[in-house]
Amino acid sequence: MKYRSWAIVHLDHLEHNVRAIQASLPSSTRQMAVVKADAYGHGLLEVTGTLGKIGIQAFAVATIEEAIRIRTHLEYPVEEILILGRTPEERFDQLLQFKLTQTVFSEAYLEKIGQYAASQPVHMDVHIKVDTGMNRIGFSHNNIAEIEKVFAYRSLRVRGMFTHLAAADGLKMVDVDFTKRQIRRFDTCLQQLKGYDYGRAHVQNSAGIMNYSELNYDYVRPGVMLFGIPSGDVARTIPLKPVMELKSSITMVKKVKAGEAIGYGQAYVAKQDMMLATVAAGYADGYPRSLSGKGSRVLIQGQFATIVGRVCMDQMMVDVTRIKGVREGDVVTLVGEDGGNNIAMDTLSRLAGTINNELVCQISSRVPRLYRTHSPVLV
Ligand SMILES: *Cc1c(COP(=O)(O)O)cnc(C)c1O
Repeated sequence: MKYRSWAIVHLDHLEHNVRAIQASLPSSTRQMAVVKADAYGHGLLEVTGTLGKIGIQAFAVATIEEAIRIRTHLEYPVEEILILGRTPEERFDQLLQFKLTQTVFSEAYLEKIGQYAASQPVHMDVHIKVDTGMNRIGFSHNNIAEIEKVFAYRSLRVRGMFTHLAAADGLKMVDVDFTKRQIRRFDTCLQQLKGYDYGRAHVQNSAGIMNYSELNYDYVRPGVMLFGIPSGDVARTIPLKPVMELKSSITMVKKVKAGEAIGYGQAYVAKQDMMLATVAAGYADGYPRSLSGKGSRVLIQGQFATIVGRVCMDQMMVDVTRIKGVREGDVVTLVGEDGGNNIAMDTLSRLAGTINNELVCQISSRVPRLYRTHSPVLV
């Protein structure tokens, strides 16, 4: 292998996940694939290329840069690319130039984009964001008069209306009650606006899809589940496959004597003579430093080896005393499968006190992504 660390991205697993999600949905519901943050670190163009090829026609992103990259590179037809966040008014011309759909979420922003659109020869496409309890962005669900103002701008074409669930990844009663209240509020909004053509309605992120599969809106917005690594308390009824594996290699193997300290701050002291291997991955690659001293493990030759001492910027040390014949250059699995054993992204996330979404988009750009379109048949 010519890299020190690398990520394997199984595009066939991505395809599998999209099909598995589709099979779980009502037949009229489509997926608007959420591919923000470089498709959760998996590579925007490779991921949207794969999704486009199998018929996904709607994408959601956080920024106009992400939207433009999709629009200029994707060779499959796309119905819409929705920007979920605020596009600065200095770039409104690019929304039109690249045929992008912008979220409108407040009266102040509506005025800006509405005024701009009025001066243009063509419509601007928008989705209306309704805040049903998350208190992030969106028109308040109980201020229908304000939402109606969007429709008064003739130069804006409303293609969708949506809200975002704040607690769909919890199965406790308080979470379920709150989520159901959000859904009721959104439905009431739709009901009160039924005299208007508000386009496609959508509510569910990954957790919403998994825990509230009875809902039937025009779109769902899966993000992290596309990559097979849903976060939080979710019903595991949809069979998903993890898309990313994270691999590294051994830089050096050596003996360490009992009583010797290993790594920064003498955070680990060898209790007995041991064999130590240095691995060529650290927090600058996206392996969280917060995993230091928590018993986090890697796989070498299909066997578990525990990280000792602090995770450094570019390296870390693991205890290989019980694995025979470990050598410089051996492959190390940080996330994924080796020899029938597996380390799930979720295991690391929980140990690091975060969620898969954060972990996976922190795998840094210096880790090359190697794309696989089919996996070897396992016998
Ligand atoms: C990020 C995001 C999603 C996707 O969330 P996942 O939990 O990754 O499925 C959906 N909708 C909105 C508004 C988002 O910001």
